Amino acid sequence: MALPARIRELLACPKCRGALEEAVDGGALHCTSCSLSYPVRDGIPVLLVEQAEPLAR
Ligand SMILES: [Zn+2]
Repeated sequence: MALPARIRELLACPKCRGALEEAVDGGALHCTSCSLSYPVRDGIPVLLVEQAEPLAR
């Protein structure tokens, strides 16, 4: 489930305020600055540092 571009542009990493990249499958948002992956649940991004997982490289 892809997020509308204008919503995606509003999203920022809560940790570093960097831009987020949507995962290929739309199931997560990735911050490349601090290498965290934020889950997207039912189409709603969960932008909580506690919920983020380290981004595998
Ligand atoms: Zn970040």
